[in-house]
Amino acid sequence: MKKQFKTESKKLMDLMINSIYTNKEIFLREIISNASDAIDKLHYMSLTDKSIKVNKKDFEIFLTINKENRTLTISDNGIGMDKDELENNLGTIAKSGSEEFKSDNEHKKNIDIIGQFGVGFYSAFMVAEKVEVLSRKYGSDEAYLWESTGVDGYTITKKEKEGYGTDIILAIKPDTEEEDYSKYLETYEIETLVRKYSDYITYPIKMEVSHTHLKEKKNENDEDEYETVTEVEVINSLTPIWRRDKKKVSDEDYDTFYSDKFNDYEKPLRHIHVKAEGTFEYNALLYIPSHAPYDFYTKDYEKGLQLYSNGVLIMEKCSDLLPDYFSFMKGVVDSPDLTLNISRETLQQNRILKTIANSIESKIKKELETMLEENKEDYEKFFKDFGLQLKYGIYNDFGMNKDKLQDLLIYHSSFEDKTTTLKDYVSRMKTDQKSIYYACGETVDKIKMLPQVSAATEKGYEVLYCTDPVDEFVFMTLRNYMEKDFINVCGEKMDLDTEEEKEELKKANEEAKDIFDIMKESVPEVSEIRFTNKLKEHPVCLSSKGDISVEMEKALSSMPINNGIKANKVLEINQNHEIAKTLKKLSKKDKKELEDYAKVLYAQARMIEGLPVENPTEIASLVCKYMVK
Ligand code: ADP
Repeated sequence: MKKQFKTESKKLMDLMINSIYTNKEIFLREIISNASDAIDKLHYMSLTDKSIKVNKKDFEIFLTINKENRTLTISDNGIGMDKDELENNLGTIAKSGSEEFKSDNEHKKNIDIIGQFGVGFYSAFMVAEKVEVLSRKYGSDEAYLWESTGVDGYTITKKEKEGYGTDIILAIKPDTEEEDYSKYLETYEIETLVRKYSDYITYPIKMEVSHTHLKEKKNENDEDEYETVTEVEVINSLTPIWRRDKKKVSDEDYDTFYSDKFNDYEKPLRHIHVKAEGTFEYNALLYIPSHAPYDFYTKDYEKGLQLYSNGVLIMEKCSDLLPDYFSFMKGVVDSPDLTLNISRETLQQNRILKTIANSIESKIKKELETMLEENKEDYEKFFKDFGLQLKYGIYNDFGMNKDKLQDLLIYHSSFEDKTTTLKDYVSRMKTDQKSIYYACGETVDKIKMLPQVSAATEKGYEVLYCTDPVDEFVFMTLRNYMEKDFINVCGEKMDLDTEEEKEELKKANEEAKDIFDIMKESVPEVSEIRFTNKLKEHPVCLSSKGDISVEMEKALSSMPINNGIKANKVLEINQNHEIAKTLKKLSKKDKKELEDYAKVLYAQARMIEGLPVENPTEIASLVCKYMVK
């Protein structure tokens, strides 16, 4: 009986069959990598369960080409699949990304997704018109054959099979005008593909290879005679890339390994190849990705490095090897000092693992520092996606790791409109400047337009533009950097006035106290109204008193749990603006009108800060009322 594929699988398969994906050849690496995983599983089991008697030397992946039948078979002697597993593993795609396959018509987008998640078993349908999977689970006598010609379903029947493991039999498609499928039946082509994509596989990949050569002559005068010898050859080099000599691995090899292993269609930004021989021996190959995976900032994302013990995979994602703030790293770690039957609990306690983790952490930090120093462009790309994770790292755990991470921060700055580190900011500070100035907002452009920002930059002070809600919390955690504290240019601590200016302003505010008292009645949310000198052309701005800034209020109110924490808002009015005179006049004339003005000015200040105006209809009517006057 024919069974139907699950909907998502069907879509994916349809995509494969009709794929315009140019990289069809990757099907082989996908199938070989599944075969290798299956052997890994059995290998690992045999090391921890003594009743399983397999010989490491026998493990292999065998490729067979049959030109007459147009089939390519990939066989492994791994764990195998029973009937249910064939059904569950091949009838559906259980990938986290499966729900992403929604829009079939957006072909381009889907192709990116193909690359992003790794295409897996179904990629076989890019080159095969029929796929058969003959499998026998280790320890079972029964074998089953799974067959499918594509989207219309699959069948599973009982079959005979000698030995455990799996054969994947691909009936290669006939050639078309655009595509030469027959090349997948050429030994040379397959050899090339194995070397290109699967060289790092730690089990031998074998194939029958024929060589034709001149036959040895019995007599000197004999005619040239050729003979063809067919031998089984191991095609891959067997030494995993992370154990190879750095000098013998090209950048391309590193990149290819990365994209195959971690299913990322974009090249990584950097790789770090470590061969450590100290207290503990280990090899590691680590990558800094160039972009965050779609689920990076969700709770579904699992950090970790692949852990090997002497070339045997013992854990897919070992989270203890990476601190949270470097959770974006991908890579493998291989150490002969680790025991194989490590359980998760003992692992955590494992001293070796801790030592390796510490060493890896400092390597990552160093690489990031080098990138920041030597290639700002790459670092900015990195920081765009992962900077937030570093910031969380600073303010999590009560700032325990702040010293390690503070020099990895970059901010867009008013200085030359470029990004800067805190160190560079401090090196440029004016002699009389005691603090690091920053301003917060949704975007750099919006921040630049804040009146308080231009007030500071016009006096020659550099301002950092902070666009992440977490930025201010980071500064609060850091408290200071190289003994300079952080000051929000929109906060009450911001003070660029001279003593005389201050004195004069104080007087003006005292004189206007009655005016502000009237105004405050119509904007009760504001805790203070006062004149300011810091605004050049702008009439008003909103600042805050105390520890909670307006930006922090915004950040807190967007969190699921918030205690209604609000900033202590101050409405500041430009003392030198026409509006100041108007307010003074009104206070003598019309109290009601003064209250209206207060409402409109407060609404303006909120808008400038990027806060919603809470009574838009009223404000709109008021503005019109005075426009027609
Ligand atoms: P993935 O390998 O990413 O999980 P695939 O679509 O490639 O996704 O394969 C689906 C599943 O089928 C695998 O997870 C594995 O359980 C099973 N499988 C595939 N090939 C083999 C094989 N040669 N031997 C045993 N199991 C296999």
